[in-house]
Amino acid sequence: MDSVTTLVDLYRGNALAFLPATRDLGRLREAVQGCQGCDLYRDAAQAVFGEGKRTARLVLVGEQPGDREDLSGHPFVGPAGHLLDEALAAAGIDRSLTYVTNAVKHFKWTLRGKRRLHQKPRQDEIEACGPWLAAEIEAVRPEVLVCLGATAAQALLGRSFRVTQRRGELIRDTGLAPIVMATVHPSSVLRARDAEERRQGRELLIENLRQVAPFLGHGLGKGAG
Ligand code: SF4
Repeated sequence: MDSVTTLVDLYRGNALAFLPATRDLGRLREAVQGCQGCDLYRDAAQAVFGEGKRTARLVLVGEQPGDREDLSGHPFVGPAGHLLDEALAAAGIDRSLTYVTNAVKHFKWTLRGKRRLHQKPRQDEIEACGPWLAAEIEAVRPEVLVCLGATAAQALLGRSFRVTQRRGELIRDTGLAPIVMATVHPSSVLRARDAEERRQGRELLIENLRQVAPFLGHGLGKGAG
């Protein structure tokens, strides 16, 4: 990426038309509520934008908001968010000094009985939403970017990227951040078949997060956000 090409220029999905001219986090957060870059805004309560310090050194990217996130308007507040909190703490990383977001900003769901069940976003929906994610990364400019799961990894690193093959690899020269790493989404750990598999999944997630901790510096934050 040269000095005049911005990240947003590289992720030119339909949401681009809804991005504000000034792309600080506050204006982006307001503007995302008006986005109609794909159809997902129709059935969601609200867009769920990223949260955290503008000065965070670590940005974590998940797939999309879940039921609780959709209702509350905050990312990673459901069971997967709690597991992420635990894993970050176990890896010595303070979540309050990170920035957490999703590749897709509106909740995609299907009704099963009375429950709204998560549905995986389609490729065209992920691509449509790309400009919001690119604008967040550009606003925060983290030292380390961690993709949680295949959707985030493929949104940022390309459709051929396989988390199963490249999990935990420290990737440089992406133009996204000095270090990019992909690991599993905490919700996949929660879906484990039994307690032992869940324990192993949790340990691996913690191990991956520990790998990036040395790049974050003491205290993680670069200052108040
Ligand atoms: S999912 Fe993304 S692109 Fe689609 S309407 Fe929501 S914010 Fe816009």
